[in-house]
Amino acid sequence: MPSYDSSLQEIKDRIDIVDLISDYVSLKKTGQNWKGLCPFHAEKTPSFTVSPAKQIFHCFGCGTGGDIFTFLASHDNLTFPEALNVLAKKAGVTLQRSEKSVAKKGEKEILLTIHNDALYFFQQHLPKDARAQSYLEKRGISRDIQKIFSMGYAPKSWNALLNFLTRKGHKPESIKKAGLAVQSQKGHYDTFRDRVIFPICDIKGDVIAFGGRSIDGSEPKYLNSPETLIFNKSRVLYGLDRAKESIKHDGYALFMEGYTDVITAHLYGFTTAVAPLGTAFTPEHGKLIKRFTEDVILVFDSDQAGVKAVKRAANILFEAGLNVKVLSFPDKEDPDSFLKKNGKDAFSRLLSHPLTIIDFLIKHGDNNRTVAREAIETIAIITDRVLQGEYVRKLSEQLDVNEMFVLEELKRIKRQPRSEYGKQEQKTHSKPGKKPINEVYIIKLLLQLPEKATEITAMLHAEDFKDTVLQGIFQKMKAGVTDFQGLLVQCEGEEKNVLTGISIRENFESPEKALTDCIKRLKDNRRTYLLKELQSRIRDAEQKKNLELLRQLQLEQQDLMKS
Ligand SMILES: [Zn+2]
Repeated sequence: MPSYDSSLQEIKDRIDIVDLISDYVSLKKTGQNWKGLCPFHAEKTPSFTVSPAKQIFHCFGCGTGGDIFTFLASHDNLTFPEALNVLAKKAGVTLQRSEKSVAKKGEKEILLTIHNDALYFFQQHLPKDARAQSYLEKRGISRDIQKIFSMGYAPKSWNALLNFLTRKGHKPESIKKAGLAVQSQKGHYDTFRDRVIFPICDIKGDVIAFGGRSIDGSEPKYLNSPETLIFNKSRVLYGLDRAKESIKHDGYALFMEGYTDVITAHLYGFTTAVAPLGTAFTPEHGKLIKRFTEDVILVFDSDQAGVKAVKRAANILFEAGLNVKVLSFPDKEDPDSFLKKNGKDAFSRLLSHPLTIIDFLIKHGDNNRTVAREAIETIAIITDRVLQGEYVRKLSEQLDVNEMFVLEELKRIKRQPRSEYGKQEQKTHSKPGKKPINEVYIIKLLLQLPEKATEITAMLHAEDFKDTVLQGIFQKMKAGVTDFQGLLVQCEGEEKNVLTGISIRENFESPEKALTDCIKRLKDNRRTYLLKELQSRIRDAEQKKNLELLRQLQLEQQDLMKS
C-alpha cells in the first residue's frame, strides 16, 4: 500500500502508542518500556509490552504485536482502513482522496455523525425551554453544569429532531438505525420527546447514544437509546470518558447506579464515578474498567433494592478479577441526597473507610446462616488467593465460627460449576512456537545495525534460515527493506507478531561481535547440515559403485570442510 506511506507516517508521528494504548490497558513503566495485562489473552502477570522508542507493542504471552494501526484494528475489531480512518481523525491528518475511497465511511461512521448532529440540536434547545430549565434548577443543575455535561433538551414534538436531521442530509432509515427515530404505520417519529437529554459517550468521548429524563413525571422516567451498531449498553459505562484519567490517577473507580448520581459525584469533585446505563453491572463492565484499575468501590442506594444490587454487582465484578469494596450510607440515603445534604467532606470520610464485602453482608444480613452462605458464595468467586484467605479469616472471626468450617464450605461450593464468565476467562491462547534463537538474534542484530544490513544480508542465504517466518522477514531485508518501520508495513500476520517481538527485545551491548558470532554459528549449522547431506549421498554413490560421482562428492566435501 505505497499510497498510504506518507499519511501513515504522519499519523504515527502525531499519535504516541503509549498514549493510545493507555486508553485501553492500564500500563506501568518498567525500564524503557511500559507493561500491562494483555487485552488479547487472559493473563494474571503482565507480558504485554509497549515500546515508546519503537512505537510498537508486543505480547510475550500470546505473541500478538504491531503498531498503532494493528492495535486498534485488533482491539476494536476494525479493518485496516477503518483503523486508519479513526486514527487519522484523532491525529488531525487529512487522508488523500484515493485513501478516502479505500477508507470509505462505514455505517458506524454515519451513525456517529448523526449523534453528533443530534447533540447539537438538543443543546440548542435546552437554554430556550423554560420548563426544562425550571426542572433542572430545582435539582441544583445550573446552566454551567448543563454545559459541562453537554446536556440538552428534546422538544415536545413528534418530528423536530427528524426534520433537523433530514435537512442535514441524513436518511430517515439511518436515523432509525441510530435509535433516534421510531417507525410507525404513518412514518417515522422522534424517539425522545419532551425530555432532558444526557449524551452517552464511548471511551473515546464520541457520542454513541442518549439518555432522556422525563420532566413532567411521565413514564418511563428514564429512557435510553435502544441498542444499535455503535451502542451496546452492557459495554458502556456512563462517565468513563471523563473519569478515565482520574481513575488511573487515583487508582480506583466509584461504581454508581445511574447517571444522575454520576453527575452529582463529579460536581462534588469525585471524578472517578461511572455508572451502567439502565442495566445491572456486567462482566464486560468489569473488563472495561480493568483497563484502568482493579479497585472499585460500589456506591449504591442504601435501600433494600440497593443492597440486593450490591450483592449481585460484587459477585460479577469479583469474578471479573476486580477488588470490590462498598460504601454504606446511613439511614436509607442515596449518593445524590447524601452529597447534597452532607457535602464533600462527609462523603470523603465515608470513602476513606469503605466496607469489605464481608462487613457489608454482615451489616445487612438477617441472620448468621444467610450471611455465611452469601459470604462464602462470594469468597468462592474471588480469584486473588491472598484476598480470599483474608476474607475467610474475617468471616470466621465475625461469625465466631471455626475457620475450618468456612474452608470446608468453600471447597464444597467450588466443586460446583462456575458461571459462563469464569469459563471464558480460563481460556488461554497457545504460546507462540519456539524460534531458533540464533536466527532470531541475526534479525535482531540486523535491526540494531541497519548500516551493516546490506553487507550482511548479501553474505547470507534465505535457506540459511530454517524457520519459515524468520526466513520471510530476512528475505524482505535482503530485498533492501532494512529499516524497522518499513519492514513493519511490509510484514503481516505472524511475521508482524514475530518482528515486533524481536524488535522489542533488549539490544545487544556489543552488537558487532555478537553478529560475527551468530553468522559463524549460522554458517556452521548450515555446513553441518550440508555435510550430513553429502555424507548420505556419498554412501549412496559407494553402494552403487558410481566412482565418478563419488570423486566429485568427495571434492565438494573437502571444499565445504575448508570454508
Ligand atoms: Zn497476549
